[in-house]
Amino acid sequence: MLKNVSRALLREGRKVYKHKLHSKPNFTKNNYDVVRGNYNYVEEEHLNYFRSLLGESRIFTDLSDLEKYNVDWNRYLRGASQIVLKPKTTEEVSKILTFCNHHRLAVSPQGGHTGMVGGATPVFDEVIISTELMNEIISLDEKAGILTCLAGCVLQNLDEYLAERNLIFPLDLGAKGSCQIGGNVSTNAGGLRVLKYGNLHGNVLGLEAVQANGVVLDFLTCHKKDNTGYHLKHLFIGSEGTLGVVTKVAVQCKLRPKSLHVAFLGLQSFDKVLQTFYKAKQDMDEILTAFEVIDAPSMDLVTSKLELESPIGDYPFYVLIETTGSNEEHDEEKVNQFLESCLKKHHILNGTVTGEISKARGIWQLREKIPEAFKYDGYVFMYDISLPLDHYYKLVDDMREYMGDKSHRVYGFGHIGDGNIHLQISVKEFSPEMKSFIEPYIFHQTKKYNGSISAEHGMGFLKAKYLHMMKTPETINLMKNVKQMMDPNGILNPYKVLV
Ligand SMILES: Cc1cc2nc3c(=O)[nH]c(=O)nc-3n(C[C@H](O)[C@H](O)[C@H](O)COP(=O)(O)OP(=O)(O)OC[C@H]3O[C@@H](n4cnc5c(N)ncnc54)[C@H](O)[C@@H]3O)c2cc1C
Repeated sequence: MLKNVSRALLREGRKVYKHKLHSKPNFTKNNYDVVRGNYNYVEEEHLNYFRSLLGESRIFTDLSDLEKYNVDWNRYLRGASQIVLKPKTTEEVSKILTFCNHHRLAVSPQGGHTGMVGGATPVFDEVIISTELMNEIISLDEKAGILTCLAGCVLQNLDEYLAERNLIFPLDLGAKGSCQIGGNVSTNAGGLRVLKYGNLHGNVLGLEAVQANGVVLDFLTCHKKDNTGYHLKHLFIGSEGTLGVVTKVAVQCKLRPKSLHVAFLGLQSFDKVLQTFYKAKQDMDEILTAFEVIDAPSMDLVTSKLELESPIGDYPFYVLIETTGSNEEHDEEKVNQFLESCLKKHHILNGTVTGEISKARGIWQLREKIPEAFKYDGYVFMYDISLPLDHYYKLVDDMREYMGDKSHRVYGFGHIGDGNIHLQISVKEFSPEMKSFIEPYIFHQTKKYNGSISAEHGMGFLKAKYLHMMKTPETINLMKNVKQMMDPNGILNPYKVLV
């Protein structure tokens, strides 16, 4: 069955599924136990200032225009913001923040609004600062592979721009068509290529950010090595808009690989998944770009709800492996030898492999589109967890047993190469009682296995109250001191991360 690439992998050209819109989500402030901070409300005099700064066309106050900024990607959270501001330059961001800080108006920085933990969605009536018009590439040093751009550039656009110049963006994720580099940096997004390129703390060479008081911080030096003083840019990588608004980013990009192979494999058990992963590292570590796992219920969800098709039939587990390198012949031989050896050792039951980009993309859809299928599966409690590999799938089994018939699907998929599982629990509809049945139990279990309750999505609004489970009181204290120093009025993204 290997190399069965001639079989149609996925029916291409099918109708594109529109997201099923859940009935309007309730206001977050009504669903969750949260109290509005002591901020001022936006009034006419504030609007007049914003109008004079940005002009009418870059301010949204009409409630129907505000919908997509107030409701998160999953359509589970709803803020009550009355205003979206769309600056184009750092100077405008600086003036907005200076004004909001002075008038004690809370703000919510927003990029592509694809975050999974409600970090960018206002909770009450925060002023939304959207970076969507800050979408210019500033420069590309092709020889050094350094791309500098404004924070609102969409990830996919950046990668396409680089592809034309034989370079690759080190970050890739399912939301690439909408998420923005400023949002990626602010969440320290992980995604599908961390195994090969590492995370953004390594790849972001520099950035510019605006503090709550409007002061612009220039960390845009683009040296790979620069040990002059504290490495403050890292404070903004992963701080989810609570310490400042990122306005510019410089990223180290590598040459685009010349060869690509994607294998999709069926396996009998999670133990076999692990054996296959260790074997992949032994046999082809230098070309391994991604190693992703999908369990049977996840596959069932994505194939049944989005009409995709497994190219290899049904198995308890699936693995998607991507390799990239600079020598097609060498890489193909390595991949084939690895697959043959896995078959011989009975690590895998079946599989298909392709070196054709369009077919590889088809296979990737099975993995990348799983979050899109959530929308057709009732209410999904989503967990983004890091675990030592020995316990990686055990948590899914535990939760399945714990939930019993209270849920209709407990499933896991994710970046096993990074020890990161996305564990989902689908129930008919949201209820605070169900939430308290699952949380904090699931986080205690995660801790028991030495895991982290947020691998790559951040704490945002949804996980903020569990920060104490992951960080010591001393660490939280230091975080609070940093926040207090950088944003003394607490205007930046209140109710998120630190609560
Ligand atoms: C289908 C799908 C697949 C996904 N896959 C992955 C994945 O593989 N890996 C992963 O890590 N995530 C993944 N995500 C989550 C999400 O895409 C990432 O967190 C992404 O980095 C968010 O970028 P964004 O521009 O949409 O940010 P937003 O959602 O707009 O914001 C996210 C956070 O960053 C803050 N923020 C945004 N822009 C700025 C700025 N300029 N300055 C300061 N703060 C800012 C917001 O306030 C918020 O706290 C996925 C999401 C979807 C919908």
